[in-house]
Amino acid sequence: MTEEEKVTETNTPENEEMTPAEKLTREENEANLKKVREIIRIAKKNYPRANMDRIMHAYEVANHMHQGQKRKSGEPFIDHPIEVALILAEMHAAPDCIAAGMLHDVVEDTSLTIDDVQAEFGSTIAELVDGVTKLKKIGDLTKEEQQAENLRKMVMHIAEDPRVVVIKLVDRLHNMRTLQYMNTDQQMKKARETLEIYAPLAHRFGMSKIKWELEDLSFKYLDPIGYEEIEQQLNMTRKNREDFITNILALVGAALEENGIHNAELDGRPKHIYSIKRKMDQNKKRLDQIYDLLAIRIIVDTNAQCYSVLGIIHNMFNIVDKRFKDYISRPKPNGYRSIHTTVLSSEGIPFEVQIRTHEMHAMAEMGIAAHWRYKEGTKKDAELEESETYEWVKRLYESQRDEESSEFLETFKMNLYTDEVFVYTPKGDVKVLPLGSTPIDFAYCIHSDIGNRMVGAKVNGELKPLTYTLKTGDKIDIITSNAPNRGPSRDWLKIVKSPEARSKLRQWFKKERKEENIELGKVMLDRELKRQGVTYQELFEDEEAVDEFLKRSNFGSVDDMLNALGFGDITALKIIVRLKDIYAKRRQSNQTAEEPMNLKTAKDAKVKPESVSDNGVIVQDMSNCLVKIARCCNPVPGDMIVGYTTRTSGVSVHRADCPNVKAMAEIDSGRMIQVRWASDIPGSSKHTAEIKIEAIDDGQTLIKVANAINEMAIRMTSFSSKNSKDNYQNLDVTVEITDRTQLDLLIRKLETIDTVSKVIRPVR
Ligand code: MN
Repeated sequence: MTEEEKVTETNTPENEEMTPAEKLTREENEANLKKVREIIRIAKKNYPRANMDRIMHAYEVANHMHQGQKRKSGEPFIDHPIEVALILAEMHAAPDCIAAGMLHDVVEDTSLTIDDVQAEFGSTIAELVDGVTKLKKIGDLTKEEQQAENLRKMVMHIAEDPRVVVIKLVDRLHNMRTLQYMNTDQQMKKARETLEIYAPLAHRFGMSKIKWELEDLSFKYLDPIGYEEIEQQLNMTRKNREDFITNILALVGAALEENGIHNAELDGRPKHIYSIKRKMDQNKKRLDQIYDLLAIRIIVDTNAQCYSVLGIIHNMFNIVDKRFKDYISRPKPNGYRSIHTTVLSSEGIPFEVQIRTHEMHAMAEMGIAAHWRYKEGTKKDAELEESETYEWVKRLYESQRDEESSEFLETFKMNLYTDEVFVYTPKGDVKVLPLGSTPIDFAYCIHSDIGNRMVGAKVNGELKPLTYTLKTGDKIDIITSNAPNRGPSRDWLKIVKSPEARSKLRQWFKKERKEENIELGKVMLDRELKRQGVTYQELFEDEEAVDEFLKRSNFGSVDDMLNALGFGDITALKIIVRLKDIYAKRRQSNQTAEEPMNLKTAKDAKVKPESVSDNGVIVQDMSNCLVKIARCCNPVPGDMIVGYTTRTSGVSVHRADCPNVKAMAEIDSGRMIQVRWASDIPGSSKHTAEIKIEAIDDGQTLIKVANAINEMAIRMTSFSSKNSKDNYQNLDVTVEITDRTQLDLLIRKLETIDTVSKVIRPVR
């Protein structure tokens, strides 16, 4: 058979994407050639010594064979293999792999045979094309058996040569990018298949960049409204987010420079829509409650620099979690390495920082494909083979011979997910639970009633404690009891892992233990009332105020409130503080409505009088108590403040974002007390503020700073300066100011001095 004859046979291609059509125009051919030359240019850059002829030859053969075929979009079919080859080249694939990408559809969709490819291009390219061809119908979800067969093949190929699967993933990526031309049924089918198999597969290969794009594209077709909702909300808040990130990036960039890290790459990481959706679903949160929408990424040269950067970041910002996540010393199962830490901006807004090297970054984005870049792409890379990424493939490869197709399919799918366990009911139904789940999670996943009556569990026929951590493949039998007065234990709330089990447990306690909770709530409220020196009568006498409180706090009745208190949804202190707040506000509005001088109304008598301390602070419902301004953070009027009742020296007043007071509140929240600045602090009253300035020592800085302060008629009470290495100067200045506005003005003024690099209010 000659090549010409083969072409005439391709008029009814099997591939659903194609319709017959006429030959390419001269312009189209030229445009294609230009793209192929670009592919070769990229490949040449990555593999300077390799011969590029086979890429051009692969294009010529593919172009010839696909002649007359069109995609659903109306574009000539050849556009598709060219795009696939281009993406592969950009991923640093070697020329063989790029050529195979160019030829990946010829055996399937034209009359060219795999032997022809072998004769023309040799065995490496032929094996790759053969592998991809055999994976063609992998995801025909209606035919489970066939899908299983194809997955089996996929696993064999991953074990033999992962490049086959990489080409397949890139093929799917380009098809998903151009999915709009398919009919709705096909769109849904492809999207589901992509989300169920290809995206997790990309994840297992550590190819997150492809994974994210596949997920977002699938989500867009499967749930267009949901997708658009998130997209719109993101757009609405985009400006704010971008401003915030730009600001943080500038701060961090300057700090890195100061610390001698000069070529760091900084980046505000965009969150992917599907991962936002998943987060919202998992945590039952609204978009505005997901805080790691704000994130930055810092890419440096060496591992050691990663840890230096971590130190710098922790120096600049307060840490949210005491622990940061070090995936460098403990990589994720798919090979992901990076450091993650969540910190607070000076405004108290949390954001995530990811720190990694360029190599880690390439691995994180491109996964196994990144090995091409860093290992000059040999087929069997010893290190690659030994890496954990391949452990699961090897296990599957070894186990698959003995399994039925349908079982194999399940095993395969299970192994695609690393954050979940798959377990069986006694009847053999599969349940998916978060990693770390216990038999209690399983019981509640079956039914609340099973969970509530649970007394024990058998795992694979053996009795296990309720704290047992479930493993994929476990078969679980829940033992229940019908005895009255039995029910879940409060400790279970600490054991369960799944949000579902947790919420069902909470529901039960709230409903079934209502009387118990109310009794407990009364005791707790009494105790706190005594501590605050108020009586129940005083606080609950005014029905209107109580009603307003209940309504605002979403309680149907006082019993409801006590139930929530006993159950742990609210603290007694919060109830008291909120109620007092309402009394205070009502009293205030009464005052302004009535005679200003008429202070002694009946209502006023119920609440203790308040007074302004010498330093302008009012302690909620307290009069004449000792008030001290905390020296660690030196709040000034205009700052958000909180009070902390010390054992011996009255109330100490901190800035609301002071890490010290936050730590103290964690230990004993009962000692926190509401404070506020008096509205009429006399203008003459002075407050101490500390300022830390970092500047280049040009011999003039001290004078410039002193002048700036003097120009604002602000009094300095202390001034010290220390020179650091690199010609830097650290100034500590204490000033007396009237309020936050004046302080902010001063800081801004100091920042404009040319040698000053940073001005902050320190917290000790
Ligand atoms: Mn294709």
